[in-house]
Amino acid sequence: MQAFQFENLATRVRFGSGSLRHLREEVVRLGAGRVIVLTTPQQVSLADRAEELLGDLAVARFTDATMHTPVSVTEAALAISRQAGADGIVSLGGGSTIGLGKAIALRTGLPHLTVPTTYAGSEMTPILGETDNGLKVTQRQPAIQPRSVLYDVDLTLSLPFAASVTSGLNAIAHAVEALYAAEGNPITAMLAEEGIRSFAQALPLLQADPYVRSAREQALYGAWLCGTCLGQVGMALHHKLCHTLGGTFGLPHAETHSVILPHAIAYNAVASVAMGRISRALGTDGPPALVMFALARQLGAPTALRDLGMPEDGIAQAADLAAANPYPNPRPIERDRIEALLRRAWAGSPPLPEDS
Ligand code: NAD
Repeated sequence: MQAFQFENLATRVRFGSGSLRHLREEVVRLGAGRVIVLTTPQQVSLADRAEELLGDLAVARFTDATMHTPVSVTEAALAISRQAGADGIVSLGGGSTIGLGKAIALRTGLPHLTVPTTYAGSEMTPILGETDNGLKVTQRQPAIQPRSVLYDVDLTLSLPFAASVTSGLNAIAHAVEALYAAEGNPITAMLAEEGIRSFAQALPLLQADPYVRSAREQALYGAWLCGTCLGQVGMALHHKLCHTLGGTFGLPHAETHSVILPHAIAYNAVASVAMGRISRALGTDGPPALVMFALARQLGAPTALRDLGMPEDGIAQAADLAAANPYPNPRPIERDRIEALLRRAWAGSPPLPEDS
């Protein structure tokens, strides 16, 4: 076994069906008595429910959380929080709302409890990406990590199936890259394999019926595992490509992950131990890149960058950007091969062995 380092980041987790009913108890446990409630405009009814459960502990609300955590939005929420004398933060929603809660926590030191309703996994990470003047800056530090996470499976029943798939594939991508991460370790590898397995089993069941609670439970459990992987180790080629495509070409976050993942796996096929674990998690002997591509297709996820609005004449620039300052990766980054990979991903072609 290779030498490794492992750090457990302290977050309290409460998981179950209907666990939102414990919200007040969990806020009290954090030592907060005056909280601000955060959601997106699409989830205002969830803010209503949270306030009902919190009673006099809820002193303010902000329901304009926005994708990519714009600093101007954070400042607006901060003003409301300060005016109300809030001493704690409750965020309910996906990565966008959790990002806002993290941004406020980082600036104020207030304890942050989050109730995730997608599978993106931000709740388990000390990572925050903020946008200001069109630039996204990402930082990683312990003060960003939420102190408490309340996973309520019932709140994920309303996540549309298409969003569940892209969010799930986004989560799988965290686990895949954790398996060949430079800081990889045996504990994270176990979590990653189990996280991939959870989604590979749950997503086809949700395709048949998105309201099957046991499948939703398995998917949310997978989100916890995959998010933990993202929080524990650094990411590689796949995330570099997605950050480049999202940052420079404005492609949508989760959908871009869905398209790129099979191609990134093909490129990194040299990481044989990781590939073995991915195959085992997917329950197949086939090449994991092709199996992942087939799974995405079967689930109706996007498989072509051109369908996400990527201009064909931007591919060469994307390859240049991805090859400059690459993240650590098991296989050296060769610019021309990255361009070939992106051309296939643009067209929606399956990953080919020449990527590997
Ligand atoms: P999101 O939070 O932007 O949510 C998308 C939409 O779905 C929103 O309108 C939201 O209100 C709605 N929604 C969420 N849950 C729902 C539910 N259960 N039912 C119905 N509607 C629901 O999407 P996301 O993919 O969770 O988050 C994406 C953002 O999170 C990106 O900005 C990404 O960069 C960030 N992110 C950060 C990290 C990190 O560790 N810092 C990790 C993953 C993602």
